[in-house]
Amino acid sequence: MYTCDKSRLEGTVNEFSSFGSTPNKGVTRLCFSQEDIEVRNYFKNCCEELGLDVVWDDMGNMYATLAGKKDIPPIVIGSHLDSVEKGGRFDGVLGVLTGLEVVKTLIDHKEEQIAPIVVMNFTNEEGARFDPAMMSSGVLANKFEKEKMLQSTDKNGMTFKEALEASGFAGHKANRLKQASAYLELHIEQGPVLESEKLEIGVVEGVLGMVCYEITITGESNHAGTTPMQLRKDPFFLATDLISAMRRELSKIDDALVFTMGRVTVTPNIHTVIPDKVVFTLEARHQDPAKIREVEEVIFDLPKEENGCKVSFEKLWSRDTVEFNEAICQHIQHACEEYNYSSKRMYSGAGHDAQFMASYIPSAMIFVPSVNGKSHCEEELTSFEDCAKGANVLLRTVLALQKSISKQELKTL
Ligand SMILES: [Zn+2]
Repeated sequence: MYTCDKSRLEGTVNEFSSFGSTPNKGVTRLCFSQEDIEVRNYFKNCCEELGLDVVWDDMGNMYATLAGKKDIPPIVIGSHLDSVEKGGRFDGVLGVLTGLEVVKTLIDHKEEQIAPIVVMNFTNEEGARFDPAMMSSGVLANKFEKEKMLQSTDKNGMTFKEALEASGFAGHKANRLKQASAYLELHIEQGPVLESEKLEIGVVEGVLGMVCYEITITGESNHAGTTPMQLRKDPFFLATDLISAMRRELSKIDDALVFTMGRVTVTPNIHTVIPDKVVFTLEARHQDPAKIREVEEVIFDLPKEENGCKVSFEKLWSRDTVEFNEAICQHIQHACEEYNYSSKRMYSGAGHDAQFMASYIPSAMIFVPSVNGKSHCEEELTSFEDCAKGANVLLRTVLALQKSISKQELKTL
Protein backbone atom coordinates (compact mmCIF):
# COMPACT_ATOMS: atom_id res chain seq x y z
CA MET A 1 0.00 0.00 0.00
CA TYR A 2 1.70 3.17 -1.15
CA THR A 3 1.64 6.55 0.55
CA CYS A 4 1.96 10.23 -0.28
CA ASP A 5 5.41 11.81 -0.20
CA LYS A 6 5.87 13.59 3.12
CA SER A 7 8.94 15.61 2.17
CA ARG A 8 7.40 16.65 -1.15
CA LEU A 9 4.27 17.83 0.69
CA GLU A 10 6.43 19.71 3.20
CA GLY A 11 8.27 21.40 0.34
CA THR A 12 5.01 22.43 -1.33
CA VAL A 13 3.51 23.83 1.89
CA ASN A 14 6.72 25.82 2.47
CA GLU A 15 6.70 27.16 -1.10
CA PHE A 16 3.09 28.29 -0.82
CA SER A 17 3.71 29.95 2.55
CA SER A 18 6.24 32.28 0.90
CA PHE A 19 3.30 34.14 -0.68
CA GLY A 20 2.39 36.81 1.87
CA SER A 21 4.75 35.44 4.52
CA THR A 22 4.96 37.39 7.78
CA PRO A 23 8.06 37.74 10.02
CA ASN A 24 6.86 35.13 12.52
CA LYS A 25 6.21 32.29 10.06
CA GLY A 26 2.60 33.20 9.38
CA VAL A 27 0.92 34.48 6.22
CA THR A 28 -1.29 37.40 5.28
CA ARG A 29 -3.12 36.53 2.07
CA LEU A 30 -6.35 38.44 2.02
CA CYS A 31 -8.77 37.61 -0.78
CA PHE A 32 -7.59 39.10 -4.13
CA SER A 33 -4.69 40.94 -2.53
CA GLN A 34 -1.46 40.96 -4.56
CA GLU A 35 -0.28 37.93 -2.51
CA ASP A 36 -3.51 36.02 -3.14
CA ILE A 37 -3.34 36.73 -6.88
CA GLU A 38 0.28 35.55 -6.95
CA VAL A 39 -0.44 32.34 -5.05
CA ARG A 40 -3.38 31.62 -7.38
CA ASN A 41 -1.15 31.98 -10.42
CA TYR A 42 1.46 29.79 -8.79
CA PHE A 43 -1.18 27.16 -7.99
CA LYS A 44 -2.36 27.31 -11.60
CA ASN A 45 1.20 26.79 -12.90
CA CYS A 46 1.86 23.88 -10.51
CA CYS A 47 -1.34 22.17 -11.68
CA GLU A 48 -0.70 22.78 -15.36
CA GLU A 49 2.82 21.35 -15.03
CA LEU A 50 1.18 18.15 -13.79
CA GLY A 51 -1.05 18.10 -16.86
CA LEU A 52 -4.20 19.21 -15.05
CA ASP A 53 -6.73 21.42 -16.77
CA VAL A 54 -7.28 24.63 -14.77
CA VAL A 55 -10.36 26.85 -15.04
CA TRP A 56 -12.16 29.30 -12.75
CA ASP A 57 -15.76 30.37 -12.45
CA ASP A 58 -17.58 33.69 -12.10
CA MET A 59 -16.68 33.90 -8.38
CA GLY A 60 -13.03 33.12 -9.05
CA ASN A 61 -13.26 29.60 -7.58
CA MET A 62 -10.46 27.58 -9.19
CA TYR A 63 -10.79 24.01 -10.49
CA ALA A 64 -7.79 21.88 -11.46
CA THR A 65 -8.94 18.66 -13.12
CA LEU A 66 -7.13 15.37 -13.53
CA ALA A 67 -9.06 13.64 -16.31
CA GLY A 68 -10.69 10.28 -15.58
CA LYS A 69 -11.34 7.39 -17.94
CA LYS A 70 -14.96 8.46 -18.05
CA ASP A 71 -16.60 11.83 -18.35
CA ILE A 72 -18.66 11.41 -15.18
CA PRO A 73 -19.15 13.64 -12.11
CA PRO A 74 -15.75 14.13 -10.45
CA ILE A 75 -14.41 13.55 -6.97
CA VAL A 76 -13.60 17.00 -5.63
CA ILE A 77 -10.92 17.84 -3.06
CA GLY A 78 -10.96 21.45 -1.95
CA SER A 79 -10.33 24.22 0.52
CA HIS A 80 -8.98 27.77 0.32
CA LEU A 81 -5.71 29.60 -0.31
CA ASP A 82 -6.76 32.91 1.26
CA SER A 83 -5.96 33.71 4.89
CA VAL A 84 -6.83 36.16 7.63
CA GLU A 85 -4.45 38.99 8.54
CA LYS A 86 -1.40 37.34 10.15
CA GLY A 87 -2.90 33.90 9.80
CA GLY A 88 -1.15 30.56 9.72
CA ARG A 89 0.54 28.52 6.98
CA PHE A 90 -1.89 25.60 7.20
CA ASP A 91 -5.47 26.87 7.47
CA GLY A 92 -7.13 26.15 4.12
CA VAL A 93 -3.96 25.85 2.07
CA LEU A 94 -3.29 22.38 3.53
CA GLY A 95 -6.60 21.11 2.11
CA VAL A 96 -5.68 22.34 -1.37
CA LEU A 97 -2.08 21.11 -1.21
CA THR A 98 -2.87 17.66 0.19
CA GLY A 99 -5.33 17.42 -2.73
CA LEU A 100 -2.48 18.27 -5.06
CA GLU A 101 -0.19 15.76 -3.30
CA VAL A 102 -2.84 13.04 -3.76
CA VAL A 103 -2.99 13.81 -7.48
CA LYS A 104 0.83 13.74 -7.75
CA THR A 105 0.91 10.38 -5.96
CA LEU A 106 -1.73 8.91 -8.26
CA ILE A 107 0.21 10.16 -11.29
CA ASP A 108 3.47 8.69 -9.87
CA HIS A 109 1.81 5.29 -9.51
CA LYS A 110 0.15 5.54 -12.91
CA GLU A 111 -3.10 4.85 -11.12
CA GLU A 112 -5.84 5.25 -13.72
CA GLN A 113 -8.87 7.07 -12.45
CA ILE A 114 -12.39 6.25 -13.59
CA ALA A 115 -13.88 9.54 -12.36
CA PRO A 116 -12.00 12.83 -12.86
CA ILE A 117 -10.43 14.35 -9.73
CA VAL A 118 -10.80 18.08 -9.20
CA VAL A 119 -8.62 20.06 -6.78
CA MET A 120 -10.42 23.25 -5.82
CA ASN A 121 -9.48 26.61 -4.37
CA PHE A 122 -12.51 28.48 -3.03
CA THR A 123 -12.47 32.27 -3.26
CA ASN A 124 -12.76 34.29 -0.04
CA GLU A 125 -13.36 31.54 2.48
CA GLU A 126 -12.09 33.68 5.34
CA GLY A 127 -14.25 36.74 4.71
CA ALA A 128 -11.36 38.71 6.23
CA ARG A 129 -11.40 41.38 3.52
CA PHE A 130 -14.91 40.97 2.13
CA ASP A 131 -17.75 39.84 4.36
CA PRO A 132 -19.14 37.12 4.65
CA ALA A 133 -16.91 34.10 5.24
CA MET A 134 -17.34 31.13 2.87
CA MET A 135 -18.67 33.59 0.33
CA SER A 136 -18.09 31.62 -2.86
CA SER A 137 -19.05 28.14 -1.68
CA GLY A 138 -22.17 29.93 -0.39
CA VAL A 139 -22.86 31.26 -3.89
CA LEU A 140 -22.28 27.82 -5.46
CA ALA A 141 -24.72 26.27 -2.99
CA ASN A 142 -27.26 29.07 -3.51
CA LYS A 143 -26.96 30.15 0.12
CA PHE A 144 -25.79 33.65 -0.85
CA GLU A 145 -26.95 35.86 -3.69
CA LYS A 146 -24.14 36.61 -6.08
CA GLU A 147 -25.28 40.18 -6.78
CA LYS A 148 -25.20 41.02 -3.06
CA MET A 149 -21.77 39.42 -2.67
CA LEU A 150 -20.36 41.49 -5.53
CA GLN A 151 -21.25 44.63 -3.59
CA SER A 152 -19.43 43.55 -0.43
CA THR A 153 -16.85 46.24 0.32
CA ASP A 154 -13.43 46.16 1.96
CA LYS A 155 -12.29 48.78 4.48
CA ASN A 156 -10.95 50.99 1.69
CA GLY A 157 -14.27 51.06 -0.13
CA MET A 158 -13.31 48.63 -2.91
CA THR A 159 -16.07 46.21 -3.85
CA PHE A 160 -15.59 42.47 -4.22
CA LYS A 161 -16.68 42.89 -7.84
CA GLU A 162 -13.88 45.38 -8.56
CA ALA A 163 -11.29 43.17 -6.82
CA LEU A 164 -12.51 40.07 -8.67
CA GLU A 165 -12.35 41.77 -12.06
CA ALA A 166 -8.93 43.30 -11.38
CA SER A 167 -7.54 39.92 -10.25
CA GLY A 168 -7.87 38.26 -13.65
CA PHE A 169 -9.86 35.44 -12.03
CA ALA A 170 -13.37 36.47 -13.08
CA GLY A 171 -14.33 33.40 -15.10
CA HIS A 172 -17.49 31.96 -16.60
CA LYS A 173 -20.52 30.91 -14.63
CA ALA A 174 -20.59 27.78 -16.80
CA ASN A 175 -17.42 26.62 -15.02
CA ARG A 176 -19.14 26.42 -11.63
CA LEU A 177 -19.14 23.00 -9.99
CA LYS A 178 -22.61 21.61 -10.60
CA GLN A 179 -22.30 17.93 -9.84
CA ALA A 180 -19.79 15.71 -8.11
CA SER A 181 -19.81 12.25 -6.64
CA ALA A 182 -18.01 13.48 -3.51
CA TYR A 183 -16.51 16.57 -1.91
CA LEU A 184 -13.59 16.02 0.47
CA GLU A 185 -11.94 18.70 2.57
CA LEU A 186 -8.89 18.12 4.70
CA HIS A 187 -8.34 20.87 7.27
CA ILE A 188 -6.38 21.55 10.42
CA GLU A 189 -8.59 21.04 13.45
CA GLN A 190 -8.09 24.62 14.72
CA GLY A 191 -8.82 23.30 18.20
CA PRO A 192 -7.07 21.25 20.91
CA VAL A 193 -9.10 18.00 20.92
CA LEU A 194 -7.01 15.68 18.70
CA GLU A 195 -3.74 16.80 20.27
CA SER A 196 -5.00 16.49 23.84
CA GLU A 197 -6.37 13.00 23.17
CA LYS A 198 -3.17 12.05 21.27
CA LEU A 199 -5.12 11.16 18.12
CA GLU A 200 -3.88 11.43 14.56
CA ILE A 201 -7.02 11.98 12.48
CA GLY A 202 -10.46 13.46 13.03
CA VAL A 203 -13.25 11.94 10.95
CA VAL A 204 -15.56 14.95 10.70
CA GLU A 205 -19.22 13.99 10.68
CA GLY A 206 -20.63 17.48 10.44
CA VAL A 207 -20.49 21.13 11.45
CA LEU A 208 -22.05 22.31 14.70
CA GLY A 209 -25.20 24.35 14.62
CA MET A 210 -24.97 27.75 16.23
CA VAL A 211 -26.90 30.79 17.25
CA CYS A 212 -25.86 34.35 17.98
CA TYR A 213 -27.88 36.92 19.92
CA GLU A 214 -27.23 40.55 20.75
CA ILE A 215 -28.49 41.71 24.14
CA THR A 216 -29.01 45.40 24.84
CA ILE A 217 -29.43 46.95 28.29
CA THR A 218 -30.45 50.60 28.40
CA GLY A 219 -30.14 52.78 31.50
CA GLU A 220 -29.38 56.43 32.12
CA SER A 221 -26.10 58.34 31.97
CA ASN A 222 -25.20 60.71 34.77
CA HIS A 223 -22.30 62.18 36.72
CA ALA A 224 -20.18 59.52 38.43
CA GLY A 225 -19.53 61.73 41.46
CA THR A 226 -22.85 63.39 42.19
CA THR A 227 -25.41 60.62 41.61
CA PRO A 228 -26.11 58.54 44.74
CA MET A 229 -25.98 54.78 44.16
CA GLN A 230 -29.66 54.17 44.91
CA LEU A 231 -30.74 56.75 42.30
CA ARG A 232 -28.75 55.27 39.42
CA LYS A 233 -30.00 53.34 36.42
CA ASP A 234 -26.69 51.66 35.64
CA PRO A 235 -26.94 49.17 32.74
CA PHE A 236 -23.40 47.88 33.22
CA PHE A 237 -23.93 46.64 36.77
CA LEU A 238 -27.13 44.96 35.60
CA ALA A 239 -25.23 43.46 32.66
CA THR A 240 -22.60 41.90 34.91
CA ASP A 241 -25.33 40.36 37.12
CA LEU A 242 -27.21 38.99 34.11
CA ILE A 243 -24.03 37.70 32.44
CA SER A 244 -23.06 35.79 35.61
CA ALA A 245 -26.55 34.34 35.91
CA MET A 246 -26.65 33.37 32.23
CA ARG A 247 -23.26 31.72 32.49
CA ARG A 248 -24.50 29.59 35.40
CA GLU A 249 -27.66 28.56 33.49
CA LEU A 250 -25.83 27.83 30.22
CA SER A 251 -23.24 25.70 32.02
CA LYS A 252 -26.04 23.39 33.14
CA ILE A 253 -27.29 22.63 29.61
CA ASP A 254 -24.69 20.17 28.31
CA ASP A 255 -20.95 19.50 28.64
CA ALA A 256 -20.53 19.70 24.87
CA LEU A 257 -22.17 23.13 24.60
CA VAL A 258 -19.72 25.95 23.87
CA PHE A 259 -20.80 29.55 24.43
CA THR A 260 -19.05 32.89 24.14
CA MET A 261 -19.82 36.46 25.08
CA GLY A 262 -17.25 37.85 22.71
CA ARG A 263 -18.32 41.45 22.19
CA VAL A 264 -19.28 43.96 24.85
CA THR A 265 -19.81 47.63 24.14
CA VAL A 266 -20.28 50.08 26.99
CA THR A 267 -21.47 53.56 26.07
CA PRO A 268 -20.20 56.22 26.44
CA ASN A 269 -17.23 54.34 27.97
CA ILE A 270 -15.88 57.25 30.01
CA HIS A 271 -14.63 56.70 33.56
CA THR A 272 -16.46 59.70 35.03
CA VAL A 273 -19.82 58.88 33.48
CA ILE A 274 -22.40 56.27 34.49
CA PRO A 275 -22.98 54.31 31.26
CA ASP A 276 -26.35 54.56 29.53
CA LYS A 277 -26.11 51.49 27.34
CA VAL A 278 -24.45 48.09 27.28
CA VAL A 279 -24.64 45.80 24.26
CA PHE A 280 -23.16 42.29 24.32
CA THR A 281 -23.32 39.15 22.22
CA LEU A 282 -23.99 35.59 23.22
CA GLU A 283 -22.97 32.97 20.69
CA ALA A 284 -23.49 29.24 21.35
CA ARG A 285 -22.74 26.07 19.38
CA HIS A 286 -23.99 22.50 19.76
CA GLN A 287 -24.74 19.54 17.52
CA ASP A 288 -28.26 19.06 18.88
CA PRO A 289 -30.86 21.72 17.91
CA ALA A 290 -32.72 20.98 21.17
CA LYS A 291 -29.71 22.22 23.16
CA ILE A 292 -29.57 25.37 21.05
CA ARG A 293 -33.23 25.94 21.88
CA GLU A 294 -32.37 25.62 25.59
CA VAL A 295 -29.80 28.37 25.09
CA GLU A 296 -32.49 30.53 23.54
CA GLU A 297 -34.77 29.83 26.53
CA VAL A 298 -32.12 31.31 28.82
CA ILE A 299 -32.17 34.48 26.71
CA PHE A 300 -35.99 34.57 26.53
CA ASP A 301 -36.09 34.33 30.34
CA LEU A 302 -34.10 37.55 30.82
CA PRO A 303 -36.06 40.24 32.69
CA LYS A 304 -37.58 42.91 30.43
CA GLU A 305 -36.86 45.54 33.04
CA GLU A 306 -34.75 45.65 36.19
CA ASN A 307 -33.14 48.33 38.39
CA GLY A 308 -34.66 51.00 36.14
CA CYS A 309 -32.97 49.57 33.05
CA LYS A 310 -34.59 48.04 29.99
CA VAL A 311 -33.40 44.73 28.57
CA SER A 312 -33.99 43.64 24.97
CA PHE A 313 -32.45 41.09 22.63
CA GLU A 314 -32.17 40.41 18.93
CA LYS A 315 -31.16 37.27 17.06
CA LEU A 316 -28.25 38.22 14.79
CA TRP A 317 -27.90 34.90 12.99
CA SER A 318 -27.97 31.16 13.28
CA ARG A 319 -26.85 28.04 11.46
CA ASP A 320 -28.36 24.58 11.57
CA THR A 321 -26.10 21.63 12.24
CA VAL A 322 -24.77 20.23 8.97
CA GLU A 323 -24.50 16.44 8.76
CA PHE A 324 -21.87 15.06 6.41
CA ASN A 325 -22.27 11.94 4.27
CA GLU A 326 -22.01 8.78 6.37
CA ALA A 327 -20.71 6.56 3.54
CA ILE A 328 -17.80 8.95 2.96
CA CYS A 329 -17.11 9.15 6.72
CA GLN A 330 -16.87 5.35 6.71
CA HIS A 331 -14.38 5.43 3.82
CA ILE A 332 -12.29 7.94 5.81
CA GLN A 333 -12.47 5.76 8.90
CA HIS A 334 -11.43 2.65 6.93
CA ALA A 335 -8.52 4.60 5.50
CA CYS A 336 -7.37 5.41 9.07
CA GLU A 337 -7.65 1.74 10.00
CA GLU A 338 -5.68 0.64 6.93
CA TYR A 339 -2.78 2.88 7.95
CA ASN A 340 -3.22 2.13 11.66
CA TYR A 341 -3.81 5.80 12.47
CA SER A 342 -5.72 6.56 15.65
CA SER A 343 -8.87 8.56 14.95
CA LYS A 344 -12.15 9.74 16.35
CA ARG A 345 -15.48 10.87 14.97
CA MET A 346 -16.05 14.55 15.67
CA TYR A 347 -17.96 17.68 14.69
CA SER A 348 -16.37 20.87 13.50
CA GLY A 349 -17.04 23.88 15.70
CA ALA A 350 -15.73 26.18 12.97
CA GLY A 351 -17.37 26.84 9.61
CA HIS A 352 -15.85 25.47 6.39
CA ASP A 353 -16.70 25.48 2.67
CA ALA A 354 -17.69 21.82 3.11
CA GLN A 355 -20.77 22.85 5.09
CA PHE A 356 -22.21 24.58 2.02
CA MET A 357 -20.98 21.97 -0.46
CA ALA A 358 -22.74 19.32 1.65
CA SER A 359 -26.08 20.86 0.64
CA TYR A 360 -25.72 19.49 -2.90
CA ILE A 361 -22.74 17.13 -2.97
CA PRO A 362 -22.08 14.15 -0.65
CA SER A 363 -19.33 15.63 1.55
CA ALA A 364 -17.09 14.97 4.52
CA MET A 365 -13.98 16.39 6.15
CA ILE A 366 -10.69 15.09 7.54
CA PHE A 367 -9.06 16.90 10.46
CA VAL A 368 -5.39 16.82 11.38
CA PRO A 369 -4.14 17.98 14.82
CA SER A 370 -3.30 21.62 15.55
CA VAL A 371 -0.32 22.11 17.88
CA ASN A 372 -1.66 23.82 21.04
CA GLY A 373 -5.02 24.05 19.26
CA LYS A 374 -3.94 27.37 17.72
CA SER A 375 -5.24 28.83 14.47
CA HIS A 376 -5.85 32.18 12.75
CA CYS A 377 -2.50 33.28 14.16
CA GLU A 378 1.17 33.04 13.16
CA GLU A 379 1.81 30.25 15.71
CA GLU A 380 -0.57 27.94 13.83
CA LEU A 381 1.25 24.61 13.37
CA THR A 382 0.65 21.02 12.34
CA SER A 383 3.61 18.66 12.15
CA PHE A 384 4.45 17.51 8.63
CA GLU A 385 4.20 13.99 9.97
CA ASP A 386 0.52 14.66 10.71
CA CYS A 387 -0.01 16.55 7.43
CA ALA A 388 1.30 13.50 5.54
CA LYS A 389 -0.95 11.16 7.51
CA GLY A 390 -3.90 13.33 6.56
CA ALA A 391 -2.82 13.24 2.91
CA ASN A 392 -2.60 9.44 3.05
CA VAL A 393 -6.11 9.20 4.45
CA LEU A 394 -7.30 11.52 1.69
CA LEU A 395 -5.53 9.37 -0.91
CA ARG A 396 -7.03 6.13 0.39
CA THR A 397 -10.49 7.73 0.58
CA VAL A 398 -10.24 8.86 -3.05
CA LEU A 399 -9.20 5.34 -4.13
CA ALA A 400 -12.08 3.77 -2.19
CA LEU A 401 -14.52 6.22 -3.78
CA GLN A 402 -13.14 5.43 -7.24
CA LYS A 403 -13.65 1.75 -6.53
CA SER A 404 -17.28 2.21 -5.54
CA ILE A 405 -17.89 4.48 -8.54
CA SER A 406 -16.48 1.86 -10.94
CA LYS A 407 -18.72 -0.80 -9.37
CA GLN A 408 -21.73 1.42 -10.03
CA GLU A 409 -20.49 2.09 -13.56
CA LEU A 410 -20.30 -1.68 -14.21
CA LYS A 411 -23.84 -2.06 -12.96
CA THR A 412 -25.16 0.57 -15.37
CA LEU A 413 -23.52 -1.12 -18.39
ZN1 LIG B 1 -9.95 27.35 6.76
